[in-house]
Amino acid sequence: MSFELTILGSGSSAGTPVVGCRCSTCLSANSKNNRTRCSSLITLGNGKNILIDCSPDLRQQSLRESIKSIDSVLFTHTHADHCHGIDDLRAFCQINKQQIPIYGNKDTIEQLKVKFGYAMSEPNGFWEKPVLNPQIIDGPSQLFGATIIPVPILHGRLLINGYRIGNLAYLTDVSEIPIKSLELLRGLDVLLLDCLRHEPHYTHFGFDQCLEMAKKINAKETYLIHMTHDFEYEALKNKLPKSLYAGYDGLKLSLN
Ligand SMILES: [Zn+2]
Ligand SMILES: [Zn+2]
Ligand SMILES: [Zn+2]
Repeated sequence: MSFELTILGSGSSAGTPVVGCRCSTCLSANSKNNRTRCSSLITLGNGKNILIDCSPDLRQQSLRESIKSIDSVLFTHTHADHCHGIDDLRAFCQINKQQIPIYGNKDTIEQLKVKFGYAMSEPNGFWEKPVLNPQIIDGPSQLFGATIIPVPILHGRLLINGYRIGNLAYLTDVSEIPIKSLELLRGLDVLLLDCLRHEPHYTHFGFDQCLEMAKKINAKETYLIHMTHDFEYEALKNKLPKSLYAGYDGLKLSLN
């Protein structure tokens, strides 16, 4: 099935600009240096919207992109920058009068149930809070006619999920990719890949690790995401090799 991916947020946990920072990236007038917290939206050819993570900027991102429905959410993990926007899902429950199925690996689903227990309930006619149906995804699954493949990746010592949809893969917050998971990443047209900052980091790819992994996976196009204010958009763009691109908020990619 054809689909479109929209980068809702290309930033790291602090976002760019960083509160209180006076660096040139944070003061830049280029809107591509304005990075909300990391999340993307998949819009399937049949109109269904699958959200990847609920960043704390979900409300702002939804308004910016005129999103009118969210039919499902794929969670990568439960760090605050990836799930603390969960309360904003209630807007979509209200519009569609529907419970939203949410997916993640076993740890993620267990933690979401503890962190946001108030939002996990059966529909009861009231839509003042999110009404979510948490489900574990541990292998290829069908969602609205599309095949979703969870790709286990390491985020420091945490085993979290990346996701493959058709010939696109989304890998945020990653510091190591197990060999078995690399096998799930063959023949990609598009890869979205964590590139936190210039320097290496214990739980993320830094610039050199990101480039090395992009080369190894060899997707036709690789887009960098989850970036800090270390990266000024134009400067980064100019130093990236062929087939690598700096992601930015609002970027749309079409896939067949
Ligand atoms: Zn993160
Ligand atoms: Zn800064
Ligand atoms: Zn994280």
